[in-house]
Amino acid sequence: MIIELEPIFNNVGSRFDFDYSLDLTALNLNSGFPFDSPVAVSGCVKNSAGVVTLTANVNAVYHSLCDRCAEEIKIPMKIPVEHGIVASLSNEDDGEFIVVEDMRLNLDALITEDVILFVPNKLLCSEKCKGLCPQCGANLNSGQCGCEKPIDPRLEVLKQFLDKTAGAEDTVSNE
Ligand SMILES: [Zn+2]
Ligand SMILES: [Zn+2]
Repeated sequence: MIIELEPIFNNVGSRFDFDYSLDLTALNLNSGFPFDSPVAVSGCVKNSAGVVTLTANVNAVYHSLCDRCAEEIKIPMKIPVEHGIVASLSNEDDGEFIVVEDMRLNLDALITEDVILFVPNKLLCSEKCKGLCPQCGANLNSGQCGCEKPIDPRLEVLKQFLDKTAGAEDTVSNE
């Protein structure tokens, strides 16, 4: 969607509302295509006392695999979008603003960028996900497997030390 900004910039108090579906099914994130249904975008661009701002809410369902246990996950996401819009930068410290020199705002591109920035690199089915057993590959969320817990290599040193000490004590008490 392209929003013509000229009438908004030229009329204090004016606003343009939008409410539409954006197809992000071709968006490749983290080596997958997580948005297999269109995302809902609603919001407005408005001119309040000469300041033009864009505010929107994006409702999306992120469809992927858990990074720990590889189970399928569907996570509903509400992504807030808020930007000041200017036709040109007046100060050097105006980095927060979107500059639209030709008065045509490519809303789809802006929303897509915000969605990409919002999605975390790693997603889990649950914060408490136990993941897969590194030895047999069993999903530990559905119960313990029969594998023995691997010993931390640092603790292995301690175990050997304690075994030795215990052995020495035994020798002493036996004499
Ligand atoms: Zn998981
Ligand atoms: Zn196992």
